[in-house]
Parts: sequence; C-alpha cells; structure tokens
Amino acid sequence: MSDKIIVAGVSVDTRHWIGGRRVASASGETFPDVSPIDGQPLGEIARGGPVEAEAAVAAAREAFPVWAATSRAERARILHAIAEGVDRRLEELAIVETTDNGALLRSHRRGVMPRVAHNFRFFADWLLSLEHEDFETRGHTNHVSWDPAGPCVLITPWNAPLMLATWKVAPALAAGNTVVLKPAEWSPLTASLLADIAAEAGLPAGVLNVVQGYGAEIGDALTSHPDVRRISFTGSVPTAKRIAASAAAHLTPLSLELGGKSPLLVFADADLDVAVDLAVEQYDNAGQVCLAATRFLVEESVAEEFTRRFVEKASGLRQGDPRDESTDIGPNIHPRQLEKIDGFVRRALAAGARAVIGGHRKDGQYYAPTLLTDVAQDSEIVQEEVFGPVLTLQTFSDEDEAVRLANGTRFGLAATVATGDPERAARVTARLVAGTVWVNCFFVRDLQAPFGGSRQSGVGREGGTWSFDFYCDLKNTVTAPGGWKSHG
Ligand code: NAD
Repeated sequence: MSDKIIVAGVSVDTRHWIGGRRVASASGETFPDVSPIDGQPLGEIARGGPVEAEAAVAAAREAFPVWAATSRAERARILHAIAEGVDRRLEELAIVETTDNGALLRSHRRGVMPRVAHNFRFFADWLLSLEHEDFETRGHTNHVSWDPAGPCVLITPWNAPLMLATWKVAPALAAGNTVVLKPAEWSPLTASLLADIAAEAGLPAGVLNVVQGYGAEIGDALTSHPDVRRISFTGSVPTAKRIAASAAAHLTPLSLELGGKSPLLVFADADLDVAVDLAVEQYDNAGQVCLAATRFLVEESVAEEFTRRFVEKASGLRQGDPRDESTDIGPNIHPRQLEKIDGFVRRALAAGARAVIGGHRKDGQYYAPTLLTDVAQDSEIVQEEVFGPVLTLQTFSDEDEAVRLANGTRFGLAATVATGDPERAARVTARLVAGTVWVNCFFVRDLQAPFGGSRQSGVGREGGTWSFDFYCDLKNTVTAPGGWKSHG
C-alpha cells in the first residue's frame, strides 16, 4: 500500500504524524476513505489504536516543556507562518476537503479555508494581547497569568473538518500547549495536510501530532490518558458522554461542542423575505451544520404565506456535485448518515407528519431538501438532531408559546429570531436558552465572541479569551507589600 494518495491532484499522506515523523499503524491496518460525491474510494488511511495514542501523547509530552517555554512572540510568529501556509495551499485544501466530505467547493474556497487561516492569525494576535491588570488586596499585588496546561487531545467531526479542528488547534498551540488531533474517520485528509503545513511553518516536532482512526478504537486510549491535561471535543452527544466518562479517570478538563435542534422563530411583524432567506439557509452543507435552525416556529397568522414563499425559494436551490460553483446543496457524508436521515423522515411520516417538500432520498448520496409539518412538539423529529436537509415547521399563537416551543428540547446551541420589533427581540432573546442568538441574521460569528451550547449542546465556550482560559492553567500570584514578607 502506498503511504500517499492523490486526491484531486493533491498528494496526501495517509499515515499518522507523530513526533515530527510519518508513521504507519503498528498493526499495519487501514480503513477506507470514500468520497460522498460519487462513492469512489479515495484511499486507505492508517487505522490507529492504543499504540498510536500512546506514542502521540508521549510525543506531545516530550515536546511540551520547550514549546511552553517558547516566547509568546515566537509562538505567534509560527502561528502566522501556518496561516500563510494555509493561504498558499488554499485551493488544494478546498478541493481536498470537498472531495472528502462533500461540502460545497465555493464555500471552502471563499469562506471556510480563509477562515482556517484567520483562526491561526486571530489566536496568535490574541496571545500577544493577553493580559490582566494587576490588582491589590490590602497592599498585596495580585498578578494573573495564563500558564500552558500541557498535552491536549482534540477530537473533531466531519461536517467542517479543518475549520473545526483549527478552532481548537490554534488556541491550544498559541497558549503554549502541545496537541494530539484526531480527525473524524469520514473526513481524515485535511488534518494530514495541516500537519505538513505546520511542519513547513517551523512548528517543532511533537507540538502538533495527528492520529487517524475510528473513534471507538483509538478514542478511549487518548481520553483516559493520565498525561493529557485538556480534552476538547466537537461531535455528537452520545460520544461526548463516553468521552466524559473516560476523562473522569483523571478528572481531565473537558470542552464539549455538541449537537443542536435550534429554532427559527418567525413573528408576524417580521420582514417575511428576510425570514424566508434565513429559513432557506438552513439547507447549507446539506443540513449537516450543528447550528442549523432546523425547527421553524412561525406565528399562525403568517404561517401560510411564509410556507408559500419558502417553498418557492427552496425549489430554486440546485442540488448536485459540490465542485460545481452553481450547486447549492451537495451530498450527505456517508451511506450510514443517509440511512439515519431517511429513518427519521420515514418514522415522522408514519407518525402523521406531512412533507411540504422532499421527504425522500435521491440518487447517490443525496437527500431531497425536506420540510415537514404536522409534527408534535414531543415527537422524535422535533426532539432529535437529524443532521441532514430536514426541517420542521410548527406554528404558535403568542410570544409565550413561541418561547416555550423554542426552549422545549434538551439542546440549547443557537436560536434565530425574525421580528420587526426591537422590544420583542430583546424580550424574546432574554428568555431563550441558547449559546448564540441571532436576530434577523444567521451564522455571523466573530472569533472573539463566546461560542458554545447550553444544556446538552455543550460544556464550556470557545472563542477569544474563553479559549485561552480553557487551554491554560490560570494562576494568581500574590506578592506581599514591598516584596517578600507578610502574613496579611
Ligand atoms: P461523532 O460524535 O460521531 O464523532 C466525532 C468525533 O469523535 C470523531 O472524530 C469520532 O471518531 C470521535 N469518536 C467517536 N467515538 C469516540 C470515542 N469513544 N472516544 C473518542 N472519540 C470518539 O460526531 P460526528 O457524527 O462526527 O459529528 C456530528 C455531530 O457533531 C453532530 O451532533 C453535530 O451537531 C456535532 N457538531 C457540533 C458542533 C458544535 O460546535 N457544537 C459543530 C459541528 C458538529
């Protein structure tokens, strides 16, 4: 088996990256990586297990003291060099990611990959500005510092592979930590390219390690490891529960970014064109977006008109090859994901839901954009994350009911409110349980803002100083008045 595969003209190493070296799995085993665009095999990827987990954590542990002691300015310089490497290889990263996970090439080119570079620049710059003013307690000086925590395990999903990985990698490295990154087995390729880019940028060996493999086989050895000081995970709730149980062995601090079932609330006073634009956006990435507002909650008096305009607009969306610039909706990631999506829809239809549009599979790995009505609040389709292009519509008669339905799941990742009344916007957003609320907009995300979920949508927040607080051991040093001795 070759160690490298050519994907859309780009050479990608399929082995792990541990301690600054490419290594195959000790077992010699691999797993297949398949493109969701046409079901074609892309190649065989090293299938890691406990041996590779141990080696990667050991490499991260050995590299930690030197990287932690590297000056902030030097760490920031290297992160900027990584960002430049991402920019230089932007087109390659975009086409490899699209081939691997099926998300739109135009989004990768113009939004996602520039954002990946931005993630490195942002956290490099934030590092240089990180300081807390000293303060006094009865003449004593308090000095707060951000000490690097140690080796971090970062585990990421397939729906926005490199983007989500670098939300974690960039602040973890900036803070002076070393990292073991485990990308999802359905989209393993861009993490391997990131290892190349980081090495070219001068990141010392062992500071960033990338291990490949199935979560069930390599995950536990990473998350229960006694030398790991932080675990940051983005993925599903069931996996998060397993990771939390595993991390409990050493009380390793966790950051969890999980699923959602976010609402879009449309009030009668909203600009319906804006509301419909926001609604149609929810088919982005074939519905495989954690933040997606998959539950439309629409005030009764405008529900019919909203639905009419939504159907008209959604019918104009073009579904097909994500490499085509004119495509709006690509394939879903994997036959298993498609099965799962279809199962949710079939059970909902059997329970009495009505498909206003869609409700069925299409050829290949594509699912028809779907809107279901006549769904009960306590039904599976309203309560569970589908992670496909499947939306539901319910109506409400007043603000109280809107808020009750919006908050009526075990999730709390995001919410979107469409209204023309600023006072209503203020009242409603104050009552919503969600990590992010958008008013008359969607998906605007500044890296300095806190990002995360309430309830089972997550634990902790990422972004700006929240990322540094997580990846550091915050220390307060109290010094006696005049220097050295006090019992105050
Ligand atoms: P998943 O939980 O199946 O897998 C995520 C990662 O965890 C993968 O790398 C997988 O290999 C790994 N994993 C699996 N079992 C493991 C174990 N026992 N120990 C350690 N690692 C293990 O999730 P997914 O299907 O890849 O991603 C979709 C989910 O991610 C959705 O629920 C979505 O909402 C969520 N998501 C959340 C956010 C957010 O920021 N809140 C962003 C994107 C996706």
